[in-house]
Amino acid sequence: MTRRLYKPFLLYTEGTFKENQGIVTDEGEIREVGSFTDLSKKYADSELIDWPEEIVVPGTVNAHNHSFQSLLRGIAVDQPFLEWRDQSLYKYSPYLKAKDVYTGAVFAFGEMMKYGVTTVCDYFYVHNEGIDSDEAIIQAAKDVGIRLVLARTMYDWEGAPSGYVESVADATANVKYLAEKYAADDMTTIVPAPHSLHAASVEMVQAGHKLAQELDTNFHIHVAEEPFEVGQIKKDHHMRPVELLNKIGVMDDHRTVAIHCVWLDDHEKELMGENQAKLVYCPSSNMFLADGVTDIPALQKNKVDIGLGSDGACSNNRISVFEEMRMCAMLQKVNTLNSLAVNYQQVFDMGTVNGGRILQLPIGTIQAGYKADFLAINSKDISMQPITKSYEQILPNIVYSMQPNAIDFVVVNGEVTVQKGKIETIPENKIVTDVQNLMNHLEGKL
Ligand SMILES: [Zn+2]
Repeated sequence: MTRRLYKPFLLYTEGTFKENQGIVTDEGEIREVGSFTDLSKKYADSELIDWPEEIVVPGTVNAHNHSFQSLLRGIAVDQPFLEWRDQSLYKYSPYLKAKDVYTGAVFAFGEMMKYGVTTVCDYFYVHNEGIDSDEAIIQAAKDVGIRLVLARTMYDWEGAPSGYVESVADATANVKYLAEKYAADDMTTIVPAPHSLHAASVEMVQAGHKLAQELDTNFHIHVAEEPFEVGQIKKDHHMRPVELLNKIGVMDDHRTVAIHCVWLDDHEKELMGENQAKLVYCPSSNMFLADGVTDIPALQKNKVDIGLGSDGACSNNRISVFEEMRMCAMLQKVNTLNSLAVNYQQVFDMGTVNGGRILQLPIGTIQAGYKADFLAINSKDISMQPITKSYEQILPNIVYSMQPNAIDFVVVNGEVTVQKGKIETIPENKIVTDVQNLMNHLEGKL
């Protein structure tokens, strides 16, 4: 890899926008950030990347996605949750071979990277071809050039399509195999992900937690997305979902990354904080599926670390973390009738630095020692205006007004993967053709 010296118009570092800054990248990492004049002397032999109109910010972290769901975008929309699930996910999933999962992942990763995602956590559970289906996701991320956390799902509820379902022993062995295989891979991280308390047995959830301890990772789980899960857990266990997680011993060592948490009561919110559990919040998906509104201010008050996820593209239906920043702030304001409920700085942090912390990777901030994952936003783009000399508007405009076409360049692991708004690694027209061919083929089979 070549050492590069980037010279943007403005650099977002230490919470402010600074002029005359440079970023030195080498071997996929940020070596140094500081005065461009100093760096250009110290690293005189670097390749210079001059971006005189660009504002450089950290790459965004999409901490929850299901890439295969991009293929199902626009199908069975505007339905209640269970009908949507049956007519879209369950109907198509049995037909998805590993090569189709690859096509879906290239599609999802390509689109989100173009719109500023440099790391995605893909929560993957369609194992029609076992481990080969997981390998298809990993290969897709490598070919697109995006950093991947594979939340490798552990699922044993028999009511789902058979490709989702594994025994506790098989699921554990498969996650472990992948984690060990990719342990030294800088671009791929494997974490156990028992699907949820309604789709994974207590034994499966405990096995996922135990494996997370063994691998020293977090584990991800969907929690209380819909009232039906709360009702079912209350009926079967006489307590609420987070109380059950706590009771079965999987909450007490800071490893829990809970997705959604829409339907928590006050005690559960306290338990989240006491156990240093993390939340990945997916506001657009919660709105799209009419799930409800997660109480972000209360969880913040309980000191829960919060990141953002797009969720699958068939329940959003955009896949951009900037979109989720905007939606989070707006939804929380209107839900509380308080314009101060969540602010632009907080949501920007959720989509960048918090996401990095939650995924336990050195990403989400532009500092020496972190991964060279960042974006360049065109300061002349009309959706970014106005920008005055104080630069006061820049961060609010990124969160509230920026359109995705303002993103000119994306750098992942020190490589430019989006150049002047175009995906460099795989031609966009090829992605589109492959998706259309696959979906026509699947439609013919139904
Ligand atoms: Zn999900």
